[in-house]
Amino acid sequence: MTEIIKSDVVVIGGGAAGLRSALEAADRGYKVLVLCKGLVGKSGITPLASDGISAAINKDDQIELHLEESLRVAQGIGDPKLLNLLVKEAPDRLKDLVEYGAKFKLEDDARFFHPTRSGKRDNHTCYIKGGGVSLNNVLRKAAQTRPSIQLHEDVMVLKFVKEDDQVTGVIAVDIALNKLIAISAGAVILATGGYEELWHFTDTSTDSTGEGLVLAMESGADLVDLEMVLFHPLVVIHPPSANGCFVPYDIVNSIGARLLNGKMRDLSQDILPPTAFLRLVYKTICGGDATPHGGFYFKIQTDKSEGQVIDSLRERMGIRFTHLEKLGVRLHTDLIEMAPGAHYCLGGIQIDEDCKTSVGGLFAAGEVSGNIHGASRLFSNALTETQVFGYRAGRAVKPKLRLKDFKESMTQVEKEIQKLSSGDESPAKIRSELKTLMWNLAGLVRREDLLRKALEKISILSRQSIRAERNTFCHQLVAAFEVKAMLKLSEAVVKSCLARTESRGHHYRDDYPQMSEDWTAHTRTRMIKEEIVVDHIEL
Ligand SMILES: Cc1cc2nc3c(=O)[nH]c(=O)nc-3n(C[C@H](O)[C@H](O)[C@H](O)COP(=O)(O)OP(=O)(O)OC[C@H]3O[C@@H](n4cnc5c(N)ncnc54)[C@H](O)[C@@H]3O)c2cc1C
Repeated sequence: MTEIIKSDVVVIGGGAAGLRSALEAADRGYKVLVLCKGLVGKSGITPLASDGISAAINKDDQIELHLEESLRVAQGIGDPKLLNLLVKEAPDRLKDLVEYGAKFKLEDDARFFHPTRSGKRDNHTCYIKGGGVSLNNVLRKAAQTRPSIQLHEDVMVLKFVKEDDQVTGVIAVDIALNKLIAISAGAVILATGGYEELWHFTDTSTDSTGEGLVLAMESGADLVDLEMVLFHPLVVIHPPSANGCFVPYDIVNSIGARLLNGKMRDLSQDILPPTAFLRLVYKTICGGDATPHGGFYFKIQTDKSEGQVIDSLRERMGIRFTHLEKLGVRLHTDLIEMAPGAHYCLGGIQIDEDCKTSVGGLFAAGEVSGNIHGASRLFSNALTETQVFGYRAGRAVKPKLRLKDFKESMTQVEKEIQKLSSGDESPAKIRSELKTLMWNLAGLVRREDLLRKALEKISILSRQSIRAERNTFCHQLVAAFEVKAMLKLSEAVVKSCLARTESRGHHYRDDYPQMSEDWTAHTRTRMIKEEIVVDHIEL
């Protein structure tokens, strides 16, 4: 008989959104169990984040301006109600962070520091000292002071258990103990981050594999705008020590950087807007003019002295410059290879103002949610999202524990694991092929024939039998479950790309290059009788 752990609230994910929701639920008197695939504070995307977190928090800042800008970049498909909550509640959530111990960059008069851009003072960008690492550390420490929060690390959730259309628990694997566990939950908050790992080039963490979205979709939740993925223009791909580090695009001009194709020719005579640059680079790379590792060169060429270049890099890049230097990268002298990398997933699970999904008992917060930012997002609104909606999810849960017999769900998982032990293909090989095909066929520039080819290839990969021994520390098992989810999610993403027959924000269709009024709508992806189906929701 499997032992069943019970918790009022189960939070899945140990990033900024998961920890913030756990704190709120605990402060409302509930027992909370945080399940995290890696280490809390070290896994997921949050520890990689820079230091920008938005809030119109000073007396003379205008919340209306923050909203206006957020809506403008959303290009018609951001959710006005959710964005309104994000900007309105951001100042209070930053004050909570100060209470938890976070330090922010301040002016001499103790106001929150905002940068000046083109001679104009920014209205809402604040900077947390130490970036995402310190944000997660502060939240983790706050969680550890609350006896009602239990952090369960190295635990991967494999399945949701449902009863009467409600999520009532989860089945997970304790990676270190190599043991399946069953958890009965009064409510589940999903905070598993994005799915950037579906693409060959990315600057996020390798655990951003998106199985949270697949679990939600399989249990009946609606996913929206999966095609909206923000690619960062300048991500280091070589040398390998700095693989995945990014350089801000807006500094290219001021530091005298040249961006060259594999034949050492300038990619463009002018500095293009980021989206135009992304498309040009992508076409160059896919057209065969790539560097040896599949990207373009970044080379500083200026009359300034080395000292001046270093000073301006340090000033413009802050901790990112030091970080790259520590990894052995000499931006000012080396010829470095870069490529655009998947950076943030705008699409995800549809939520309401209380972070409720379309499935009873299931809430979602942070990057895993999908209908907030629209077709693009304002820089530094993502960390704010983790705090505003993490808080809202923790506040909204009203857990009801039901006694559930987990036997049937447990047997299903056991059978799945059994099947993996007699498979043929290594999860790593399938993952690598999938990431390459997603980059080549469903990357930055999409077209119907390429997307259909992607679906065919995904279907072929999905039919391969994945092999995973249930060995000590069961890493193969984790890799197998990750790749199974990645295959399903890739199919959902490609179908969403096919459905949106227009170009808007971060979704570009070569065969439909214009934005279309008809598409001022969300694509909606659902699982109907085991099939992934995409339609749309009018706004
Ligand atoms: C390089 C970089 C810089 C960035 N800089 C900024 C910035 O300056 N400002 C800004 O606003 N945004 C920034 N972002 C975006 C921002 O960091 C993220 O959107 C945000 O941190 C996501 O937080 P999260 O809690 O939703 O997810 P994550 O931090 O990714 O946490 C997800 C958690 O879920 C766990 N998990 C996943 N699947 C499972 C499973 N099956 N079982 C158990 N646990 C699971 C993971 O291990 C992890 O602990 C940046 C992103 C990148 C990549």
